[in-house]
Amino acid sequence: MLINGEFVDSSSGETFETYNPATGEVIAQVAKGGKEDVDRAVEAARQAFDHGKWKTMPFNKRARILNKVGSIMRSRFNELVELEVLNSGKALSAAQGQVMQAIEDFEFYAGSVVSNTGETKPVPPGFFNYTQKEPVGVCAQIIPWNYPMMMAAWKLAPALAAGCTIVLKPASLTPITALVLADICREAGVPEGVLNVVTGPGSTIGGYLVDHPDVNKVAFTGETSTGKDIMARASETMKRVTLELGGKSANVVFNDADIDAAVDGSLFGIYFNTGQSCEARSRLFVQEDMYDAFMEKFMDKIQKLKLGNPLAKDTHVGSIISAQQVDVIDGYVQEAVKEGATLAYGGYSPEFEGFENGHWYMPTVLTNVTNDMKVAQEEIFGPVVVVMPFKDEKEVVKLANDSKYGLAASVWTKDHGKAHRVSSRLEAGVIMVNCPFSAFPGLPFGGYKESGFGRELSLETLDLYTETKSVLSYVGPKPLNPFGI
Ligand code: NAD
Ligand code: MN
Repeated sequence: MLINGEFVDSSSGETFETYNPATGEVIAQVAKGGKEDVDRAVEAARQAFDHGKWKTMPFNKRARILNKVGSIMRSRFNELVELEVLNSGKALSAAQGQVMQAIEDFEFYAGSVVSNTGETKPVPPGFFNYTQKEPVGVCAQIIPWNYPMMMAAWKLAPALAAGCTIVLKPASLTPITALVLADICREAGVPEGVLNVVTGPGSTIGGYLVDHPDVNKVAFTGETSTGKDIMARASETMKRVTLELGGKSANVVFNDADIDAAVDGSLFGIYFNTGQSCEARSRLFVQEDMYDAFMEKFMDKIQKLKLGNPLAKDTHVGSIISAQQVDVIDGYVQEAVKEGATLAYGGYSPEFEGFENGHWYMPTVLTNVTNDMKVAQEEIFGPVVVVMPFKDEKEVVKLANDSKYGLAASVWTKDHGKAHRVSSRLEAGVIMVNCPFSAFPGLPFGGYKESGFGRELSLETLDLYTETKSVLSYVGPKPLNPFGI
């Protein structure tokens, strides 16, 4: 773990194993942090915030350090990608995109430091006001296993840019690249204590971090149920909270869409990252008149997806994070079939030579599904899409919005007016029109409804790592005597 600028063992000396999910092999022993370690890390972050030079450092110097993080990452790109693949089982091409985005996040936020400014507000004559942005303090940042390095970058870069200090807790299944990234930050010049990383079980050290009285803010990405627990617990100490949670995002294909682009984009929308994406477009709605033609092409193309060795350049779909997650996915599929859904493709764990002990699940398609079925309402977090036909614009907007989640949605149509009419009516924070990609640095990313609140990856994220202070001065020529006495 990284505490106060040094890599240290846990106080108890305990460790846990971390695996390559594609092979089941142990790839490292990681320090198993406990409450004492959280205390040490929070203390280091507290001291660095209260007495250190990070928050008062001239903005150009802070920007230079963030840019340097980006350039060290660029020089170690292949190594970072390989580590990410080994610890997550994701396909090389997916890891490459995500590590590149992590780099660009640091570069984006290096540029953002000059935008983190206050304003002069209108006040009556004789008064003068300005507002000022101050870093919120010590931030606990708790991240999931599906994009280990990218989620670390989404969290660290804006918090550092705003002048905060940090205790980062990566997911227990994927601690490796967060530790390497923290080491890179240290090498780039992030001072000791500003960034600390504790590794270990979320239920103990994650919860303890959320309760900790010396932590000012919790930024969490993970499951909605964990987010609810965190939000409730954080209220005890009135911590600032931002939550990026689950999703069950709709993918809406209208009759007038470019059918091939819609097929390719829909495959990517669900099977990218082996379906383990918060923004996975896992509910596919296809308009009636195009349904048969679309599904014929979709079922043809799905067979071209290449599964297997995640480190191979031409692999599209990697492994599943754990055996337990494979059981969860398969449980949903089996239950849907019992409820009357048709298993149109996949629905089992494939085997590959050399990867027999890894965790795998086929890209899976379920048809004859209705939107009220469990498989259409709950987040599966695996490569499973449910397909439903729809009649018209009005019906599909209703179906798409009939979800407790509201993270993302895709719309496929050549009708410009329809695209933006529908986009405006969809209850989701991120909409993609004729486009499979959901996130670039600079674009706000986050959810409506039970997908959480707060936006990451953008300039407005800085607001979530700052307090706004309003300073009002009286500048009139005569002294004020408000009581008139
Ligand atoms: P998770 O909620 O199981 O765990 C996330 C993190 O929280 C881990 O570091 C875990 O150790 C920690 N944790 C667990 N219990 C805790 C507790 N009681 N208190 C504090 N911390 C605790 O999530 P996961 O299984 O790692 O990730 C999958 C989920 O993440 C999916 O629901 C997915 O949609 C979501 N996700 C959302 C976004 C987004 O931007 N909205 C992005 C990626 C992933
Ligand atoms: Mn989980």
